[in-house]
Amino acid sequence: MKVHSLFVRNTLDNIVFMMLDEATGTAVCADPTDADLVNEWLKKHGHRCSHVFNTHEHYDHTAGNSEVVKSSGAKLWTVEGVSGADHRLQTGDQINLGDSVIHFHYTPGHTMKHFCAVVESKGRPLQLFSGDTLFNAGVGRCGNGGDVDTMFDTFERFFKNLDDSVEVYPAHDYIENNLNFAKSVDPTNKHIDEMLDRVRPIKGTDQFLVTTMKEERQINPFLRLDDPALRKSLQLEGAPRIDVFRHLRKKRDNW
Ligand SMILES: [Zn+2]
Repeated sequence: MKVHSLFVRNTLDNIVFMMLDEATGTAVCADPTDADLVNEWLKKHGHRCSHVFNTHEHYDHTAGNSEVVKSSGAKLWTVEGVSGADHRLQTGDQINLGDSVIHFHYTPGHTMKHFCAVVESKGRPLQLFSGDTLFNAGVGRCGNGGDVDTMFDTFERFFKNLDDSVEVYPAHDYIENNLNFAKSVDPTNKHIDEMLDRVRPIKGTDQFLVTTMKEERQINPFLRLDDPALRKSLQLEGAPRIDVFRHLRKKRDNW
């Protein structure tokens, strides 16, 4: 399975991901913000689209649903409250794509309806499509239908257990801003500077910098709740993990 990133270039910097089985030219589309972008890509390459899915109900993730479905005949797998569903997502759902399997997991926090997708090949998890839950070097906001304590639970239950080698594909390109925030709370962390050096030259191009869970654990303050230097800089030495998470989310909201 190959991942193609379509940059929407809107004010929210959405990215639409097309998962492609090259052997059959079959694609699965995650969060079609812009139907024209998806339809043009399918047409240009002569691919068919078997499924469209939404990680959650926010309009910037669902706006292109009906037009992509109408022109491609894809099935729409989405969450409660989004119209046109062929199927309502639940944990345990899966879509077969060539020799890969896309597994869906309930991951509330950004909203209470959010799902992430993990793609496995030969039983090994390879890619995570994290919607607005886990971002590169950050996490989604919780102020528009979500809850920060629920987000923390999702991180403890789900993201913590993902293999280091899993690649991360979030639905927005926020990496540079998030790294700058990460640096402000974790100023002695050299991994953040190294990642900024990789990100800056490709900003505004169609290159998507793919991080791994291992790298996220090095740069993302929300995955480094026990780190002594981070805690020291936040003056939260000895605080429960959930307090560090809440504090970081609040600080990022006001940053
Ligand atoms: Zn959202």
